[in-house]
Amino acid sequence: MTAEKKSFETFTFLGMALDPIHVGTGGTRLGRVDNTIVRDPVTKIPKIPGSSLVGVMRAYVAMKKENETPNRQIDDKPKPYYPDCAGQGGGDSGHCGKSDCPVCTVFGFAKDNGGRFAGLAGFSDIHVLLFPVASQLGPQWITSPMALRQTGITEFSELGDLPEQEVIYCKTGEEGGVQSSLNLGWLFLPVKTDWQQLNNIIQKINEFGIPNYIVSRLGVVSDKLLVHIVNSNLEVRTSVSIDPTTGSAREGALFTYEALPRGTVLVWEITCRNPKHFKINGQQVTAVDSPDKVRDVVAEAYPYLEHLGIGGMGSRGMGRLRVLNPKGLGEVDTSEKEGS
Ligand SMILES: [Zn+2]
Repeated sequence: MTAEKKSFETFTFLGMALDPIHVGTGGTRLGRVDNTIVRDPVTKIPKIPGSSLVGVMRAYVAMKKENETPNRQIDDKPKPYYPDCAGQGGGDSGHCGKSDCPVCTVFGFAKDNGGRFAGLAGFSDIHVLLFPVASQLGPQWITSPMALRQTGITEFSELGDLPEQEVIYCKTGEEGGVQSSLNLGWLFLPVKTDWQQLNNIIQKINEFGIPNYIVSRLGVVSDKLLVHIVNSNLEVRTSVSIDPTTGSAREGALFTYEALPRGTVLVWEITCRNPKHFKINGQQVTAVDSPDKVRDVVAEAYPYLEHLGIGGMGSRGMGRLRVLNPKGLGEVDTSEKEGS
């Protein structure tokens, strides 16, 4: 099979939270109910739903296209990329649904006249890969076999679980020496260093562009312990809600909310379908011509993600996410390497 004919390609991305990230469970209003974040129903670890990601990414790509090509016209009428193709326009504005629109082809569209397209890019949920925790040696980044398997890296797919009450840890660099125990938050754990897979894991996650100060402070614990560590070390903030009519704090409107802490390393996958296999209104897609190009359109949102963020409470200085590998890590499958 040639690369040309591949029906899709999956890319893995890693990002680091520059602020605490809060993606609420929705349905509650600020100031009335304490706000929890979305958790994976199986692992109980907080996650950011792919549907939240796709919404902000779409808006950011539309902003970028609007900057590049302001005041776009279709059929002699103004049809701006932003807000129309972001799906944030009101009235009769909406997705253009054109085969040459990078926003509508990559993210899909739904038009009032019934035209629909699911989009060339499919977003997974965003999962926690490395979670920062305070220790007597400064911050450490903790992961588990389950979290590592979510990267989709082939070598990690076979990782078995670990004994429950210990941490695999091998601090490299300046301090040297071997730690016999490590406190992660208020958990005090014996350190084990002789786990064969550790070096392999360190090497693999290095390839993602994770900063060295994180890679050198990597600890691996059992899946169960990771759930515990994450949920007892989330950022919890207390805030007041502002009354929009007076602009001042509402009386008694103190509330708390949870967030993934700054420094959390997150992982997600984007499946990029081959545009050559799709037609829109009987027309070949011209906005992009390969899975790589679909990925590149999505990646145009990343600088915005780093500055404007994701999730709620952006006005409270939360949600900025830096993508560490904007090109993504493609599936390493040698059988797909033949041909062009
Ligand atoms: Zn469009």
